[in-house]
Amino acid sequence: QAKQLGRNNAQRYCATQTETTRQRVKLENALRHAISNEALDVWFQPQVDLQSGELIGFEALCRWTDPDHGTIPPDVFIPLAENNGMIVPLGELVLRKSCAQIRHWREAGFIPPRVAINVSGRQLRRLDFLGALCTILEQEQCRPEWIEIEVTESDILKDAEPAIATLHGIREMGIALSLDDFGTGFSSLSYLKRLPINTLKIDRSFIDGLPGDANDRAIVQAILAMGRSLGIQVLAEGVENPAQVAALRLMGCCTAQGYHFGRPALADTHRDRLACA
Ligand code: C2E
Ligand code: MG
Ligand code: MG
Ligand code: MG
Repeated sequence: QAKQLGRNNAQRYCATQTETTRQRVKLENALRHAISNEALDVWFQPQVDLQSGELIGFEALCRWTDPDHGTIPPDVFIPLAENNGMIVPLGELVLRKSCAQIRHWREAGFIPPRVAINVSGRQLRRLDFLGALCTILEQEQCRPEWIEIEVTESDILKDAEPAIATLHGIREMGIALSLDDFGTGFSSLSYLKRLPINTLKIDRSFIDGLPGDANDRAIVQAILAMGRSLGIQVLAEGVENPAQVAALRLMGCCTAQGYHFGRPALADTHRDRLACA
């Protein structure tokens, strides 16, 4: 009896697993199509100076709406693409579309601020990454100082040496670098010193508890102090309310990004905020 039950459970388990795999394969195929049809969108989220409120940058964020599956969040399709290698063509598409948007804005008489583009470790470790980056900038007639590259701390630490070499190459091209989700990757000060980065982005999880949570306050203060002593800019991610803004200003944080200042949105949404040539 027990044996019988066990076998049934095993069968049921296998059936659900097969179903999950089938779903994943379907989603993977849909994503592959979307990438080759350039059917992914890039939305832009404002970054601001906390003193003046001035727009200082945008972060480019990938969006995917599939005819069958609907809108799939980046937290689902980015890890999927990381696992099956599609992050490489996906990342190139986002780079190309972001650069093209900068050109469109400029052609329309606007001067957009710098656009930060997320690049995954898997892209960074490819030997042809710098070459591909150069080609895209050239084809889209985009200057290196118009963009910034965002990498995550944990992504770099996985296999640090080749990644660090590429980061230096990016800086040599005249492109700024920021370290995303900072504080979640256990990097040591000595590592940080070796990374040629311009900006640390404090992860949203530490901004959440401001101003009330004493631990979050201590962590944010420590990151700000570290940035000051290493000569690295600090930006707070995920700022959602005025109380957080006040706390960050008081602690001496200069720049921020979050729903309080603007959600990610289509490029045209931001036209009113752009400076004119
Ligand atoms: P990230 O690079 O840390 O981007 C910030 C995420 O926080 C975005 O989520 C943004 O929409 C969200 N966010 C911004 N402000 C707030 C706020 O005030 N409150 C809250 N709750 N959330 C806020 P999104 O767009 O869902 O992207 C999630 C992650 O997916 C990104 O985290 C990034 O790691 C990855 N991602 C998105 N686009 C790309 C891409 O083109 N390439 C790569 N490699 N990764 C990407
Ligand atoms: Mg980012
Ligand atoms: Mg982040
Ligand atoms: Mg993230």
